[in-house]
Amino acid sequence: MSAIDLSVFDLFKIGPGPSSSHTIGPMLAAGDFLRVARGLPSDALARVAGVEVRLFGSLSATGRGHGTVRTVLAGLLGRAPEDCPPEFLEDLGRDPFAERHVDLGALRLPVSARNVFFDAVVHSYACPNTLIMRLLASDGGEPVLEREYASLGGGFIQTRDQPTPTRGAPVHPYATMRELRALAARTGLPLHRIVLENETAITGADEAEIYAGVDTILRVMDESVSAGLAVEGALPGPIGLQRKARHLLERAQSLCQPTHESGIGLMCAYAFAAAEENAAGHIIVTAPTCGSAGIIPAIARVMRTRLGLPEQGVRDGLLAAAAVGFLAKHNATIAGAEGGCQAEIGVAAAMAAAMVAHAAGSPVEVTENAAETALEQHLGLTCDPVGGYVQIPCIERNAMSVVKAYTAFVIASDVAPTKYKVGLDQAIETMLVTGRDMNCKYKETAEGGLAVVVARC
Ligand code: SF4
Repeated sequence: MSAIDLSVFDLFKIGPGPSSSHTIGPMLAAGDFLRVARGLPSDALARVAGVEVRLFGSLSATGRGHGTVRTVLAGLLGRAPEDCPPEFLEDLGRDPFAERHVDLGALRLPVSARNVFFDAVVHSYACPNTLIMRLLASDGGEPVLEREYASLGGGFIQTRDQPTPTRGAPVHPYATMRELRALAARTGLPLHRIVLENETAITGADEAEIYAGVDTILRVMDESVSAGLAVEGALPGPIGLQRKARHLLERAQSLCQPTHESGIGLMCAYAFAAAEENAAGHIIVTAPTCGSAGIIPAIARVMRTRLGLPEQGVRDGLLAAAAVGFLAKHNATIAGAEGGCQAEIGVAAAMAAAMVAHAAGSPVEVTENAAETALEQHLGLTCDPVGGYVQIPCIERNAMSVVKAYTAFVIASDVAPTKYKVGLDQAIETMLVTGRDMNCKYKETAEGGLAVVVARC
């Protein structure tokens, strides 16, 4: 099996919610399409009559609720996820049929939501979330340019028939938790150092640059919590779901003694806050996806404010969490459209459990067991967002699962490492086969589960 060569910043991406596979991935794909289109020779551009984007699978089924059209348009208009102002997206969402222009240098091509088509939900492309982008020819013949993109979850995209850019090889190669554990034992390195040294080898960035990037990720995560705690009112969309984070915070703070209930209340308030910001389409960090963007920010704030862990511990914990996310992405999936919610919220909970365990100074076996326990308790979890909006059950699920992640850390810390019966590799493999067995109604299509039952009531 090939060694993992993912970057920490492939996993943790800054961008607009509410769904990494439906917003950040398509925006990146549209940006890539724009880049290639801009490189076409002038005689090719002279033959272009228009642009067309076709969304397939889950992108078609839930793209409306997930805001896919506005992010595709933003990408075609030259915006990137990490620096696209929320107002720009809100403007696109308010008036998607207004004519805007794609700047191809010699050609300014009109574009609006009329150029984006919700195509077949059931299709034969390899990836459930496929987009086809075309520059149509004025003579009605073969497109001047056509590219097929797969949006793989977590904002990862793959372009059909295009070589993936070459990267450096990891200095500590591993593909499974078993190998990672053996590596840690052989080298004596803690998990975060293995991730850090690999990151340097893969991306060429030095340690200071990597930590600066980690700090940015942690800052944006914490800002999403603060932003969500500062507002009230209804979230966008027809459900009319009211934000709850601020109320949860006030209630937790009103308890006179710091109790378990107040601790859990704070944890939930933080997770609600970031998840509600995601649902509002505001800037969050994929962790590992947008739908699960509340869990790691919530545990990070708890680590700082309740557990009193130093910032360096939070930084290194995030790197250990990345190792768990890498394993899930490499050996299974982190996309709800592929594996159901176990692949998003389940993996996020496993990462959060590893983050707190590592930051608390646990040995690698305890960190692994915390991650395994958290993931195990999400196996089989389906994805059934009501109305295709990342609100019900997604927001509450972030809160429930940060509590589960912390509980997994507590349980793992209390068991001798030699007594563990299930490894993280086994939990990840189980997630993979369970996701394959799962009916596609339960994989981000809003055609089953709560999405159907609640719509009926
Ligand atoms: S149910 Fe889970 S996987 Fe599906 S959209 Fe919500 S958070 Fe994402």
